[in-house]
Amino acid sequence: MALKALDIYKLLPKKNCKECGDPTCLTFAMKLAGGKADVDLCPHLDEQAKAVLGASTRPPIRLVKIGIGERSFAIGEEFVLYRHEKTFYHPPGIFFKVSDTQTMEEVSAVTKRVRDESFIRVGSDLRCNGIALENSSGTKEMFAAAVATVEKAADLPLVLISEKTESLFAALVHCGTYRPLLHAATKENFKEMCALAKHHDCPLVIKARGLEQLAQLAKECALEGVQDLVMDSSPQSLGEFITASTAIRQLAITRAMPDLGYPVFLDATGSDIQDAAIALGIVKYASVIVTAPLSEASAKAALTLRQNIYTDPQKPIQMNPGLYRVGTPGKDAPVLMTVNFSLTFFTLQGYLESTRIPCFMLVVDTEGLSVLTSVAAGKLNETLVRDALIRFGVENEVAHKKLIIPGYAAPLSGRIEEMTGWKVLVGPRDAAEIGEYLEQEWKK
Ligand code: SF4
Repeated sequence: MALKALDIYKLLPKKNCKECGDPTCLTFAMKLAGGKADVDLCPHLDEQAKAVLGASTRPPIRLVKIGIGERSFAIGEEFVLYRHEKTFYHPPGIFFKVSDTQTMEEVSAVTKRVRDESFIRVGSDLRCNGIALENSSGTKEMFAAAVATVEKAADLPLVLISEKTESLFAALVHCGTYRPLLHAATKENFKEMCALAKHHDCPLVIKARGLEQLAQLAKECALEGVQDLVMDSSPQSLGEFITASTAIRQLAITRAMPDLGYPVFLDATGSDIQDAAIALGIVKYASVIVTAPLSEASAKAALTLRQNIYTDPQKPIQMNPGLYRVGTPGKDAPVLMTVNFSLTFFTLQGYLESTRIPCFMLVVDTEGLSVLTSVAAGKLNETLVRDALIRFGVENEVAHKKLIIPGYAAPLSGRIEEMTGWKVLVGPRDAAEIGEYLEQEWKK
């Protein structure tokens, strides 16, 4: 079981010597309990304490890296069952599946789609992650040719799917140094698969039905020297997947079955409701999701859901405070004050861009809170607005002293005018009405 901070503290030397980088043993204990520090940072621990703390403070789910280079990513290293308890850290990789029986033009086209397609949402660039290549032909030559085609089109993380080690061996000639994920080791072939994974330093999917069988296989692969494992519980339905992945997460994070402490694999292509399977995979602990190539709309839906689930619920996504330009504003351009909650910023920015009226957005630091919440919490106040006007040199940018504030900040208008000397105009509550407002109130 995971130890609590006070239990950990009891095992520490209590010298408060700061050599671990923390001011006290207690703060170090708190970091260890949260999985944010390594026991090796304390040089004064005896071997026994190290062994106890090491086992109980290392992440309950192993961090596994897939791919090399710019598009590589990590999965696993999660600590909780529900995101409101802490947060989820490593979003699942979404892989488009292609087969070595497709034409090389088709394989190349799908690869280029994953390479190029992205969309921006609340300031983040969202993309699917890689290609899952299946050895449907059963021949090593066709598999190797398809891998070479993918490699030629893009440097993307790969999942190589074949039961034949000779096919994987042939494929790894082309991509063995790029850490593809190999699928899959079974009870029958795990020794050869482990040898291959070890030789190329690749992560490996293990496949078995039943949690006991998965745990046993994980143990055997670890003994063969392969620890970067991903678990495929071979579900026959979505219901089976959810049952298995929830049990794996629960047993891993409580350390009731530490041998299940690995990320989970889901092949959604078997489901006739693939979009729903992907959504459930994202929500219910899948770390690698293989899907048929998605339509643009389905990809956007999946990536949006993934971004939402893997955003820390206790930390709103924030913009840097500052003076932002929409278009090329001149000296007579309106200045609109807003908060640094990303969703507010990007929503307002989108509406402002569509008005085609060049303007300035003065973004003040409300610690990521929305207008309504920050006014209610007292985070948005006249001092903050005055300081932002001075700090970002707004007076040097425009030849007027008129500031448009959001409708929900109307109660502050008098105090802002008094403290800043700027005339305050109260804008609409709904950003969608800003175009009409500017037409009627600013241009008149
Ligand atoms: S190095 Fe060890 S003894 Fe020193 S403060 Fe950190 S935890 Fe305490």
